[in-house]
Amino acid sequence: MSETMSDTGSAKTAHDYDLLVIGAGSGGVRAARMAAATGARVAVAEDRYLGGTCVNVGCVPKKLYSYAAHFHDSFDDAAGFGWQMSAPPTFDWATLRDNKTSEIKRLNGIYQRMLEGAGVTLLNGRARLAGPHQVVLTQEGQEITYSAEKILLATGGWPWVPEFPGSELALTSNQVFDLERFPERFLVLGGGYIAVEFASIFNGLGSDTHLIYRGEMFLKGFDQEVREFTRAEMAKKGVNLHFGVNIARIDTLESGALKVELTNGDVLEVDAVLAATGRKSNTAGLGLEALQIELDADGKVPVDARFQTRVPSVLALGDLTAGPELTPVALAEAMQLVDIHFHQRAPRPLDYHTIPTAVFCHPNIGTVGLSEEAAREQFDGIRVYRTDFKPMKHTLSGSDERVLMKLIVDDTTDVVVGAHMVGEEAGELIQGIAIAVRAGLTKEDFDRTVGIHPTAAEEFVTLRTPSRY
Ligand SMILES: Cc1cc2nc3c(=O)[nH]c(=O)nc-3n(C[C@H](O)[C@H](O)[C@H](O)COP(=O)(O)OP(=O)(O)OC[C@H]3O[C@@H](n4cnc5c(N)ncnc54)[C@H](O)[C@@H]3O)c2cc1C
Repeated sequence: MSETMSDTGSAKTAHDYDLLVIGAGSGGVRAARMAAATGARVAVAEDRYLGGTCVNVGCVPKKLYSYAAHFHDSFDDAAGFGWQMSAPPTFDWATLRDNKTSEIKRLNGIYQRMLEGAGVTLLNGRARLAGPHQVVLTQEGQEITYSAEKILLATGGWPWVPEFPGSELALTSNQVFDLERFPERFLVLGGGYIAVEFASIFNGLGSDTHLIYRGEMFLKGFDQEVREFTRAEMAKKGVNLHFGVNIARIDTLESGALKVELTNGDVLEVDAVLAATGRKSNTAGLGLEALQIELDADGKVPVDARFQTRVPSVLALGDLTAGPELTPVALAEAMQLVDIHFHQRAPRPLDYHTIPTAVFCHPNIGTVGLSEEAAREQFDGIRVYRTDFKPMKHTLSGSDERVLMKLIVDDTTDVVVGAHMVGEEAGELIQGIAIAVRAGLTKEDFDRTVGIHPTAAEEFVTLRTPSRY
């Protein structure tokens, strides 16, 4: 439908829509729904799956698989509490995979009903920019042009794999959830949170698992002590960690297995290789060049505080733009964007410094605010309160898993500027602590808070003596 052909009959604008969103992922769906709730005429174009990365190949399936992997430890832990199993438990990959697929289908349906219920028009197809107010949708080989007062780019990211001999044999996170057969021997390449999570998942599910990372230590940017503690805990659980080394080449063997040669000369034989080597903005065929919208040095679409690109009618958010690549960030940005553009409110920029995050490796990491290293650089003096201990559950389970908790405090103001945990359900626990850190509470506020006994969490309010300055 072209601008001139518009049959919407709107008196407000000659355009087909007030907002046309490209990408029905976390940020796009939220922005579309919230904008439609203001009475705006909204459409969202999606060419793959409703709910985007998070629902289909990200947070949701990953967390479901992480739950599945945790049962391994639970079965081991149960004996010390008196539970006997008549036979060792066995794991069926197809059950997990297919139940996951059903759950995602259910969520896709919920997203569709949510959008329809909000009055958002769903355009199925791949969309590209054709002008400051024009979008071309390719649908079953046909091109349809729509016009919109504002266009929102919410196309997220896409896995990126470096080229090396045999790199095409490596899977990406888009494919790994749906493997036909369970890989008894599994190798993950990468050192970011996605790599670390998948190494824990497949190890927990029973694969002989290797993680290969070219750097000295995984989880760059996280607190150093958290990284070291996690390395030790993951190694105790049986993940084979190889740092300072890369994959030189991958070949297929006659058996169908993969032969992986490392840069240090070692050779591993595995059933699947996952390249969790980063993500790039999903801008292929998006038509940015039509409007001279150039990517920044990190490959992101630059936007201002109003989420506007260099073309004011073209907005962008989520993984496509700078900032942490997390679903709650895309959601918060979407609500900000609608506030600014559809409620005409002044921008209230997100506080990107106190965004809590979890890594669902085993045990989990939960973290908010500054690492010890970053705090040392930022403040004249800091106090570090830390503890590591065997949680009560493991006094009977026999497991040697330990918990690490630490608080980083600005010595001058007594404000808690960072909180970190490695341990069971760390993500659940840090969410509450994040409110305190976001609110700028002091160590004294933590000390005056009564603990919940017996929990691991109470340690966050009973850490009395600094471990170091
Ligand atoms: C394996 C994995 C695990 C993750 N785990 C977590 C987690 O635990 N917690 C967390 O907070 N975040 C997690 N994330 C990150 C999270 O998924 C993203 O931050 C979030 O989905 C970003 O939302 P978005 O709206 O920017 O883009 P997306 O959700 O990626 O949505 C983009 C949508 O745009 C569509 N699209 C792209 N181009 C076009 C086009 N030209 N035309 C039409 N449609 C198009 C895509 O098909 C997609 O549906 C994970 C990511 C991965 C890969």
